[in-house]
Amino acid sequence: MTMETLEFQAEARQLLQLMVHSIYSNKDIFLRELISNASDALDKLRLAKLQDGLEADTSDLHIEIGVDAEARTLTVRDNGIGMTRDEVVELIGTIAKSGTAELLTKLKEAKESPELIGQFGVGFYSTFMVADKVTLVTHKAGTEGHGTRWESAGEGTFTIDDAPDAPVGTTITLHLRPKDEDDALYDYTDEWKIKEIVKRYSDFISFPIRKVSADGEGETLNSMKALWARPRSEVTDEEYHQFYRHISHDWTDPLEIINMKAEGTFEYEALLFIPARAPHDLFQRDARRGLQLYVKRVFIMDDSKELIPDYLRFVKGVVDAADLSLNISREILQQDRHIQMIRRRLVKKVLSTIKDLMSSSPEKYATFWREFGRAVKEGLLAEPDNHKPILEIASFATTHGSEPTTLAAYVERMKEGQEEIYFLTGESRSQVENSPHMEAFQAEGYEVLILTDPVDEVWVDVVPEFDGKKLRSIARGTVDLKKDEEEKQPEGDFGPLLGFLTEKLDERVKEVRLSHRLTTSAACLVSDADDITPALEKMYRAMGQ
Ligand code: ADP
Ligand code: MG
Repeated sequence: MTMETLEFQAEARQLLQLMVHSIYSNKDIFLRELISNASDALDKLRLAKLQDGLEADTSDLHIEIGVDAEARTLTVRDNGIGMTRDEVVELIGTIAKSGTAELLTKLKEAKESPELIGQFGVGFYSTFMVADKVTLVTHKAGTEGHGTRWESAGEGTFTIDDAPDAPVGTTITLHLRPKDEDDALYDYTDEWKIKEIVKRYSDFISFPIRKVSADGEGETLNSMKALWARPRSEVTDEEYHQFYRHISHDWTDPLEIINMKAEGTFEYEALLFIPARAPHDLFQRDARRGLQLYVKRVFIMDDSKELIPDYLRFVKGVVDAADLSLNISREILQQDRHIQMIRRRLVKKVLSTIKDLMSSSPEKYATFWREFGRAVKEGLLAEPDNHKPILEIASFATTHGSEPTTLAAYVERMKEGQEEIYFLTGESRSQVENSPHMEAFQAEGYEVLILTDPVDEVWVDVVPEFDGKKLRSIARGTVDLKKDEEEKQPEGDFGPLLGFLTEKLDERVKEVRLSHRLTTSAACLVSDADDITPALEKMYRAMGQ
């Protein structure tokens, strides 16, 4: 066959236009796309040999990157499966992929917000962001004779021709656009730039990515260590710790490492770390949070908040999902069913890991709770379905000794006839301990939980019970410690005094009554069972409500 000039399909042309006029803020990703295609091609060749008995040399599957600064070219070569002439026309000349139409509309809409568009990947065509001409030479494994040469300037047409001496695999050469002062186009012939991009986006590709230079053997740029894909028994702690440092920039070794692997209809692997100490910005709104998302070893994005709820924002790690599109955006992530499923599983696993720590390593657990308990308790507000597992891993300061207690331990110590879990909120331990509300409970030997975190004021209102025992604020309503006695003391001689006080305090209190909750104080303020607590009232007032 001879050379032909063909037209791009209409959608392909549209997409190319967007690339040529470069709506991406992050052009570096073109290399990620090329490497990902090359890696797929290597996978396919290995599979074809294994499954279809294709005769092929798979002893040195790899990807090569070469640059020529003078000619301003960048070349990415793989010795993978390659393409036939028909395949090139079909795969490169058209956009046959489903969802591309949607992607196109999104791309156009996103013109106004370049940072959003930076999250998309659009495959091979992204090369036209940085190149004004692209040449692809390919030879399909298992086919005799010549290969195929494809070339285009990304305008309306491409040419296709025979390539007599093409080796098996695919070589893509980008003729880089001239450097433009305004458009901060990086110099993609710069060795350091290439290294940096490969490290960032393709470090865990499972084939070597070699930088080749004129003087021979190339240097491997990627570590190829997809730690999350390797069985735990084969990875040393030091390797895990190094990786943790790499993704978290925290130099303290993590408290716990969690490996997950799901097979079946939706496959993913996850490697999570629970840090040993809280970052300084744990309670700052604009702090970075979320996990890294990979799709089949290809880095997709950092800080993916969709993968882990806010109250577990301190968890670091990687999720590698097999069946997501490389083109997935943050917007799509939020709605993706699979992502939501992964997130639920991760939550379950993190909570159960902490629960296991409580018995297997109480010291680690104590560290965990000290560092992250305040954040974890936010989960009681965010996830009503998870009240139980969250309460199970929680501990609280208590009037029973100086060590925090779990609710289970509290329940075990409950007095004969005690049916509720008593707590009192406040600003500090000493404030709570010295509260007049405490007196009767102390005197009668009832244990009271001391809740002093700001979030405690809020979650106690939405969590009704633990293990069938109601959670009960001792500052609210009437607490009937002495059941046999009259709820309301006969006023007797106190009638006139109570009348006087009620009148004097008219504006400030609802009612003045006698109480046996006090032993040494003369009086204390109590709210009705469904009133807000004084501390919460104070908080609202501070917020101007
Ligand atoms: P995607 O990778 O999402 O399918 P691309 O635009 O990146 O989309 O690539 C389109 C298709 O071209 C690929 O699916 C693949 O079939 C083919 N292709 C691209 N690069 C190569 C390569 N290096 N070797 C073999 N086939 C390739
Ligand atoms: Mg691709």
